[in-house]
Amino acid sequence: MLRLPRFQLHTPATVHDAALLLQEHRAAEQDAAKTGTPGLTVMLVAGGTDLFPNMKRRQFTPTTLIALGTALPRTIKNDGLRPQGPLPLGMTIGAGATLTSVASDPRIADGYRALAESAVSISTPQLRNMGTIGGNLCLDTRCNWYDQSLFWRMAEGMCMKTDPSVVCRVAPSSPRCLAVASADTVPALLALGASVRIVNADGERVVVLADLYREDGISPMAMGRGDIVTEILMPRADGWRSTYLKLRDRGSFDFPILGLAAAVRMDGEVVRDARIAMTAIGSRPMLVEAAAKALIGSKLEDDAILAAADAAHKVARPMDNTSGTIAQRKKTVPVFATRALQSLRVN
Ligand SMILES: Cc1cc2nc3c(=O)[nH]c(=O)nc-3n(C[C@H](O)[C@H](O)[C@H](O)COP(=O)(O)OP(=O)(O)OC[C@H]3O[C@@H](n4cnc5c(N)ncnc54)[C@H](O)[C@@H]3O)c2cc1C
Repeated sequence: MLRLPRFQLHTPATVHDAALLLQEHRAAEQDAAKTGTPGLTVMLVAGGTDLFPNMKRRQFTPTTLIALGTALPRTIKNDGLRPQGPLPLGMTIGAGATLTSVASDPRIADGYRALAESAVSISTPQLRNMGTIGGNLCLDTRCNWYDQSLFWRMAEGMCMKTDPSVVCRVAPSSPRCLAVASADTVPALLALGASVRIVNADGERVVVLADLYREDGISPMAMGRGDIVTEILMPRADGWRSTYLKLRDRGSFDFPILGLAAAVRMDGEVVRDARIAMTAIGSRPMLVEAAAKALIGSKLEDDAILAAADAAHKVARPMDNTSGTIAQRKKTVPVFATRALQSLRVN
């Protein structure tokens, strides 16, 4: 049996308190690093459904955890006409909302279907009752060579994600780690044009979701270590239709080995705006702009869908770092793009 390592747990009552605690522990962590004292680290935990298994496998060994369960907002609010930030808001989802509450909210199922479909596809009912949408957005990248017990990884000689002095086992000549983005709600939220509110000890800011990720398997989040995601801001859903398709080994529960979300804004029969987003084919979830271009102005006729599917196929470069095969994942991209877009046609 894999056991959790020992750690200290803090349970701040507010996001502000959590941000101050994080700042305080980060400063201690930096001081310890300067004096050569190893292993003093702090991490955030929300539902713990990803972090705790990772800690059991010693992928992370924080000495301090700051639990966000009480501090984070959990409500899903319909913000109707309140304009805020770069986009008029349609809905605000607290980062502490569980995946179950996101998947089962009728307003999300109605206006942001891709998000409801992606949330319900994650793990199992028990884990969705604990796992939060904020934790899903901040999910670590995964890899066949990394998501293994410490014993397994030591026997294999580790990999770049555990020890930067070792090669990437997936592509030994790669200068960077190729671990793969695996969060299901992210492509759905990208296709729906979401932004996130981030709080730290110095204040808060709103970031377009696409800017939160980078093509780096070791450090996939473009966030500071003092940052806390507090809310997901959804633009208004008028005219938008969306869907999410997921390829995985086991239909009962499994991480995606390809996830594809499609969203189109219809004006009658004509597509006025479109977004196609994919995950599990790189360290960063991606928006496929050429696919969107192929759709805008069309009536989702076969030719336009074929061009969009082709554009998605061209940019998909899965590596040998998940279950399934590279060919299977690559060939599924245009199939999913076609199926998703056909399902969005006005009947
Ligand atoms: C068996 C199993 C199957 C799974 N299947 C899937 C799947 O199919 N698809 C999928 O996407 N996921 C899957 N997961 C992973 C996980 O359950 C979900 O991603 C879940 O949404 C994580 O949320 P959490 O609140 O539990 O995050 P935690 O485990 O608490 O945290 C995850 C990471 O996010 C950070 N974090 C959490 N909240 C915040 C915040 N508000 N601000 C900043 N950083 C934060 C933590 O520090 C940690 O690094 C699976 C997990 C298991 C164990």
